[in-house]
Amino acid sequence: MKPHLKVFRQRKASMIREAMEARDRAFSYRKFNVGVSALCFNEEDLTYRTFRGINIKPEEEGDTICGERISIGAARAEGFRLLVGLVVVGKQQPDGVTKIVRKVLPPCYKCRVFFRGLLGHGISPETLVYMLDPDTEEHETLSVAQILATYNGRIHA
Ligand SMILES: [Zn+2]
Repeated sequence: MKPHLKVFRQRKASMIREAMEARDRAFSYRKFNVGVSALCFNEEDLTYRTFRGINIKPEEEGDTICGERISIGAARAEGFRLLVGLVVVGKQQPDGVTKIVRKVLPPCYKCRVFFRGLLGHGISPETLVYMLDPDTEEHETLSVAQILATYNGRIHA
C-alpha cells in the first residue's frame, strides 16, 4: 500500500476540492450534505482515478445512501477495485451508534460494516480516510484499521 498512499498524499488537495464540489450536489431532507472523493487503483491497467460520492437521504424514513459507499461502488463498477483513500467533507456530528464525538464526521455504522466486509477484497487496513469539517476546517486522517478498532467493539451497541 505504501506507493499508493504516497499518491493519495499527492492528490489530497485536489480531492478535497472534488469532495467540496460534490457536497453541493448531495441531497438530504435535513440539509446534512456530505461530499466524497475516493482514490482508487485499477489492478489490471495499473492506473489511478478518483470517484466522487454524495449522500442522498430524501426522507427521514428509509436508508441513507452514503457518499463513501456511492464512490466505492462507482469505482468498482469501472474496474477500480482497490480503495487507496477517501476524502470526506461533512459537518461534524456524534457517531449515531457509539455516540463517540470527534471534531470531524467519521464513516457511519453501515459504512464501517461495509469497510469490514471488503477487507482483503479491495479495502486494506491501511486504506486512509481523511475527514474535513468545511465550517471549522477541523480535519483528521484515520486508517480503516483505526476506524474499525475505535468503533468495532461497540458496533452492536
Ligand atoms: Zn455511511
